[in-house]
This record gives sequence, C-alpha cells and structure tokens, in this order.
Amino acid sequence: MLALRGITKSYGGRRVLDDVSFDVADGRLTGFVGGNGAGKTTTMRIALGVLAADGGTVDLDGRPITADDRRHFGYMPEERGLYPKMRIGEHIAYLARLHGYSKADATANAHALLDRLGLGERLNDNVETLSLGNQQRAQIAAALVHDPRVLILDEPFSGLDPLAVDVVAGVLQERAAQGTAVLFSSHQLDVVERLCDDLVIIAGGTIRAAGSRDELRTRHELRRYELVSECDAGWLRTEPGVEVVDFAGGYAVFDVSDDETAQRVLRRAVELGDVASFSPRHPSLAQIFKEVIR
Ligand code: ADP
Repeated sequence: MLALRGITKSYGGRRVLDDVSFDVADGRLTGFVGGNGAGKTTTMRIALGVLAADGGTVDLDGRPITADDRRHFGYMPEERGLYPKMRIGEHIAYLARLHGYSKADATANAHALLDRLGLGERLNDNVETLSLGNQQRAQIAAALVHDPRVLILDEPFSGLDPLAVDVVAGVLQERAAQGTAVLFSSHQLDVVERLCDDLVIIAGGTIRAAGSRDELRTRHELRRYELVSECDAGWLRTEPGVEVVDFAGGYAVFDVSDDETAQRVLRRAVELGDVASFSPRHPSLAQIFKEVIR
C-alpha cells in the first residue's frame, strides 16, 4: 500500500497542498478527483518522488519509499512524451529494456500490451503518425510495460473516445486484479464512478473526502426515493416529512425526513393503487463531489 501522510507544498509562499493524506491500496483502483488547479498533479509527482514535498511522508508497505521502490512505479504524466520518430513497438520495448528486461521479454511484453490496447496493427508505425487517441494508448503502454507494482496515471482517459475508454479501463482493472496499486486522476466523473474502488476528492489543496466508493455513497446518502405507481403522486406534496423534488403523474422523486416516513409513504402508496416501484436513489459521484467541495 502506498500511503501519503501530511503532505504540504507551497510555491512562492502560496500553499498548494495542505496536510494531504490518503492511501492507495494494492489490488484496487483509486480515483483522484478534483477541479483544475486542485493539486492532483502536484500530489502525484510528490508520490512518485519527482517533486519534493515541503513536509509529510510517502510510505510503501509501512516504510519510507526508496529509490529502488520507485523503479517499480509506472507513471503516465500529464504532459505526454514519447519520441515522435520512433516506431511504437520498438519504443515500448525499449522502455521495458531500460527497466532491465531482456530483449526477448521486452519485445514480447511490449507487443502483447500494445495488442491488448488495440495497437497490434500499428507496431511498425512511428509515434508521430498515430492519432492523438492512439498516442495516448501508447503512453499508457509506456507506463505499464515493466509490470509496475504501483501505477500512477495523470488523466489517462482524457482525449479518448468511449471505446478506447473501455479498453483502457479494462486494462487498468486487470492490473488491479493482479495486485497493482493504481491511482488515476480524472475529471470525467462518470468514468471514475464506474471504474474506481476507492475515491479521493481534493479541492484547493486539501482532501475533502477519501474512502471506498460505496462508503462515500452511503455517507452521503440522501434520504431520497423514487416512486412509480399507477396513481397520481400529487398527494405526496401534503404528506408530512416529505419534500417532492420531481413529479409527473404517477412518477415522483422525493426526500424524506426519516426512514419511518419512507415506510409510511410506501404503505400509503400501496393503499392508493398499484406500485410499480419504490426505491432509494443513490447519490451520483457528481452530487457527492459538489457537496464535498462546497
Ligand atoms: P491539478 O493537477 O489538480 O490541476 P496542480 O497540482 O497542477 O493541480 O496545481 C495545483 C496548484 O499549484 C495550482 O494553483 C497551480 O497553479 C500551482 N502550481 C503547480 N505547479 C506549479 C509551479 N511549478 N509553480 C507555481 N505554481 C504551481
């Protein structure tokens, strides 16, 4: 497990990270979410050791991280950087060789990975001839080719079409399933919501929420319900402890003051007519995000 504790960082007297602490667990995908300038890239660069913090620690498996540990990290930086004139297959194999792989293993790993990422037909093409989306896939291959123990990806999904998002998401899930600790930043909340096991939300250089996705959802659970029945749902408006959010004929979305009110509403709805469905509404990540950064 990668553990960040009390990380602070200032630029020119302005504090951009303040007491940043969170974990990136082995075998799980941790989504790192925040607006522009929130501090994601700075945090990731400190976790990698390419940038020094002013204070705080970064530990791996309960001890301070060493230079050797960092050789087993994979990083996809925000500013993409592959050699434009190099063939993509050779390029990715070359990066594996820099990590000590034999020529045969490096080539086999690079080709398998590029194939998995949908670039199997493009191995002999120069990087510069690839579309931006394909260059992005290649960049992901570059971060993964040495089978890192910890994977840190800065906006790996930006600029990818929905099919490519699915391919890359699948590859990251496979890595996590093999035990890799994966941290990725993204401003695409729908992708993060679908993909991540754990979530870290940052705003203005401070962590606003961190935990498993399901834990955060429960913590921010609104007492919100959806009712679909054959009877007009207008009666809900005068029901004590109920606030109607949305309403159209037999359909209503409403908040209740407590669980008993929800039960009472359900009984009443059944008395009034056939109930097609009555279900709690879970908050979306976008709703949680808005709530915690307020
Ligand atoms: P994010 O990745 O969430 O968009 P960053 O970590 O890039 O945020 O930036 C956090 C804050 O730190 C921003 O206000 C940014 O302007 C500032 N910052 C980042 N790098 C530098 C730097 N090298 N010099 C001065 N300010 C910086």
